Amino acid sequence: MKELTVNTSKSYKIQIERGCLGKTGKLAERLFKPGAKAVLVSDSNVLPLYGERVKQSLEAAGFSVHTFAFPAGEESKQLSCIAQIYSECAKHRLTRSDFLVALGGGVTGDMTGFAAATYLRGIPFIQIPTSLLAQIDSSVGGKTAVDLPQGKNLVGAFHQPCLVLIDPDTLETLPQRFLSDGMAEAIKYGCIKSRELFDMIYKEDIRQNMEELIYRCVDIKREIVQRDEFDTGERMLLNFGHTFGHALEKLYGFSKLSHGEAVGIGMVMMAKCGESMGITKPGTTNEIIAALRKFQLPTSDPMPIDQILSATAFDKKNSGGMIGLILLKQIGEGFVDQIYRDRLAELTEVLQ
Ligand code: NAD
Ligand code: ZN
Repeated sequence: MKELTVNTSKSYKIQIERGCLGKTGKLAERLFKPGAKAVLVSDSNVLPLYGERVKQSLEAAGFSVHTFAFPAGEESKQLSCIAQIYSECAKHRLTRSDFLVALGGGVTGDMTGFAAATYLRGIPFIQIPTSLLAQIDSSVGGKTAVDLPQGKNLVGAFHQPCLVLIDPDTLETLPQRFLSDGMAEAIKYGCIKSRELFDMIYKEDIRQNMEELIYRCVDIKREIVQRDEFDTGERMLLNFGHTFGHALEKLYGFSKLSHGEAVGIGMVMMAKCGESMGITKPGTTNEIIAALRKFQLPTSDPMPIDQILSATAFDKKNSGGMIGLILLKQIGEGFVDQIYRDRLAELTEVLQ
């Protein structure tokens, strides 16, 4: 069992332990009054797999639990689904002493978090992430969001969970494609902060050591978020590979290319740019490509660079004609460089 504490505007614990889903009730007892109500939000894949275990654990601790499931997938990450969660909360008369539980991947976590941030101007919520991406990334840090037709995550709020429960055993049922997806984010953490983590991912049989992998990734995220909770500086580092990754996701309509696949390609593109500018240590791009290939992740895409560039226009990292680019000095050392957007074409010449 591993435990971490996140010290942000609200302090909370992250517990990483095989089989910990069954402890949800016991842990919630420390946070909520006996008899408190909970709406357990999940998706159509995850609820049948793990819903009952979490519900029973909460009920055994004396909480009254109502479940709500939405159709699995990014397509559900919309305001209409948030409205359904609000209805569920209102129907069961939840108050600020009650709570939501997000049981599922990043889509479930982002939506439940947003509903929790806004229902009654904010109620507490527990994150129980079940995809690798959600376990190492989206469940920690308090960013919650929904998509608009114009772009991903355009509506959201900062709202920290009151507890994050990570059970690595849930990954046993996660389809391979989504496991690879999460590995792209793990490789990202290695790239920006830890050569040691990068080597562990690349050289070791990571399947045997998921608990350690999750712990190391979450610890990096926790440290960055603690220093920059509201994303005004260092937290941008976490967007390594995401500027072009988001653009690709958008161009392909979100569903053809998964988040991790797009970010993987985006990381390779940024490393290439960095190497051609003489900023990034030569050979870095090849190391990233090799690590991505280990998890069957794509490393390039035929989409013309000018189309990718125009699709970056709506990126949240843009302000006042400047764009924040996340570059690497070498594996384990990322930094944020603010450049004028006009210079992007020049910097990305190598990608033509
Ligand atoms: P997801 O929630 O759609 O989960 C991926 C798929 O795996 C779904 O079909 C889901 O039903 C299934 N699944 C999840 N856990 C499972 C399990 N244990 N067994 C079987 N199936 C399981 O998507 P995701 O990849 O987890 O997350 C992507 C989302 O996360 C995106 O919307 C992205 O914007 C968001 N995100 C948010 C942050 C943040 O800081 N808030 C960070 C990164 C990504
Ligand atoms: Zn990401």
